[in-house]
Amino acid sequence: MEEKKMNYIFNTIEYCNMCGSETKGHKILGKRLNRSQGKHPENKIGITVTICKCTNCGLVYSNPQPVPVNIQDHYGTPPESYWKSDYFKFDENYFKNEIERLNKLIFIRKGMNSLDIGAGLGKQMIALSSIGFNAYGIEPSVPFYDRAISEMNIEADRLKLATVEEVEYSENFFDFISFGVVLEHLYDPSTAINRAMRWLKPGGIIHIEVPSSDWLVNKLINLYYTFKFSDYVGNLSPMHIPFHLYEFSLKSFELHEKKNYEIAFYEYYVCKTFLPSYLDFLVKPLMKRTNTGMQLCVWLRKI
Ligand SMILES: [Zn+2]
Repeated sequence: MEEKKMNYIFNTIEYCNMCGSETKGHKILGKRLNRSQGKHPENKIGITVTICKCTNCGLVYSNPQPVPVNIQDHYGTPPESYWKSDYFKFDENYFKNEIERLNKLIFIRKGMNSLDIGAGLGKQMIALSSIGFNAYGIEPSVPFYDRAISEMNIEADRLKLATVEEVEYSENFFDFISFGVVLEHLYDPSTAINRAMRWLKPGGIIHIEVPSSDWLVNKLINLYYTFKFSDYVGNLSPMHIPFHLYEFSLKSFELHEKKNYEIAFYEYYVCKTFLPSYLDFLVKPLMKRTNTGMQLCVWLRKI
């Protein structure tokens, strides 16, 4: 996959996608190769883009932004060997913590409508259906969509094979919408949030999980490169798997242009440290205390 040839158009970014501030004067973090960099990126051949951080809202983005000529290069289909049989098993605890949190934010009642953007195999749809939601979903990848229907028995009229940019739903239709690890892959996450807000009822909740731009591990990697007088950074992967185009901070949502929502709840997930596991006892509590975990989870309430 990594060796696949890809053609890109490079777009200059003039305004921050989330807060709308001019990118002129934003902080330049460093260069990012179109492949994994390792300890000596300066010895590797490839294309680099400049990675920047919005000084207003903390959004990390690449400038220019590489857009593949063929978008399927990025949505890429996983090979058959990717599928393991236990992917198709439904775990009773799936989305359980999120449902508990959601129940604190809106009182869950039978017959509420939900939408999972980037539904994958439809596991969240199953979890929400089981507690009485009319669960809908959107999934842009053909193999995931096919298997959600054939292996997970998702009803075809509830799941659309489409991107969030393509679909349309009625205004004020949903009580709950989620973007699970989706926004960092979109070229225009701000518009995607605004579209979803239109489909959401006032008082409804959007759940978002994204990579955090304050992740401690990236800061350590960048410090390592700085000590070596290298101008490379570890943030993002705009031209290789997993194709992350953005990292977000809480401020990216607080200062989101023309927003019609408030932040109802947020938390950081520590997840992986990518450091030797004997350091976990030290690093994980530190990340928890300082809000420098890998993933940022925000719950937005439409006003
Ligand atoms: Zn910004």
